[in-house]
Amino acid sequence: MSSQGWMKQALEKTGIQAEIVQVKSVSGGEINQAYYVETTKYPLFIKAHDKMDPTFFNSEVDGLTELKEKGNVLTPRVYGVFQTEDEQMSGCVMEWIQGEKTNHYSQQLGEAVAKLHQATSRKFGYRNDTYIGEIHQKNNWWTNWNDYYRSNRLLPQVQLGERLGYMPSKRKQRMEKLMDRLQEWIPANDVKPSLLHGDLWGGNVMVAKGGKPCFIDPSVVYGDHELELAFTELFGGFSEDFYEAYAYTQPVDRGYDDRKELYQLFYLLVHLNIFGEIYGGHVDTVLKRYVG
Ligand code: ADP
Repeated sequence: MSSQGWMKQALEKTGIQAEIVQVKSVSGGEINQAYYVETTKYPLFIKAHDKMDPTFFNSEVDGLTELKEKGNVLTPRVYGVFQTEDEQMSGCVMEWIQGEKTNHYSQQLGEAVAKLHQATSRKFGYRNDTYIGEIHQKNNWWTNWNDYYRSNRLLPQVQLGERLGYMPSKRKQRMEKLMDRLQEWIPANDVKPSLLHGDLWGGNVMVAKGGKPCFIDPSVVYGDHELELAFTELFGGFSEDFYEAYAYTQPVDRGYDDRKELYQLFYLLVHLNIFGEIYGGHVDTVLKRYVG
């Protein structure tokens, strides 16, 4: 089916009564085909995939709703999730986001993320399964953060790594040691279940009208806010102003520096499993630091 063909269906199925005027593909995504779609009513953003079923996109929409309703941060308006008649393509139709950064942008971003983290839950985890990249993540509720981080985050990535051939025995043994000893570095009783975006790198924050940060592509979880902070520091892109504004609203514990790499490890394992052994060296360096 031509792209115009399935897009017409996407609009119909999400209740948008408008004609398509122009379509341009958008780069920057890691998984989906992404498009700017000019219509006779308003501009849209459509992302779609020919191998993912609608569950994948429903999970994203659910995450965006949680961020907006519980975390009080800006997310794109979602018109709906669709699947074409022939079930060959599914995706999501959203508001097109476009704005200019103001001088206060980084500060606003820091405040927004801090505010997000102040939304809490009684337990750790999430009510629905989520995705990190294309990797499916099981979720449920846990009373102890370390149990959640070990069983629902680190262990599934180790098991996936084994299936994919990225978990040689030495790496696996070190991972097992580290998972047994989490309590040495993470005082689980002091950790609060904060609402996290879950995949917060620079590419997942857009600038909306008025210069406000607008969050996309989440992998939400209620967990240690340091997990999110650690990921923002893994690949950079967040300025000093961001961290200052964040810490003003949401204080960062002095012990964070000792845990940072332990939290980055989860994202490094995800990158190892998605992009391959190119991330293996970094994983091993972190393991060496904690378990020798
Ligand atoms: P993927 O799920 O494949 O990683 P993204 O959701 O990250 O795709 O979207 C791909 C790119 O499209 C992003 O890097 C961003 O630049 C752009 N984008 C995402 N959502 C919107 C939106 N609502 N409006 C405008 N551009 C968007």
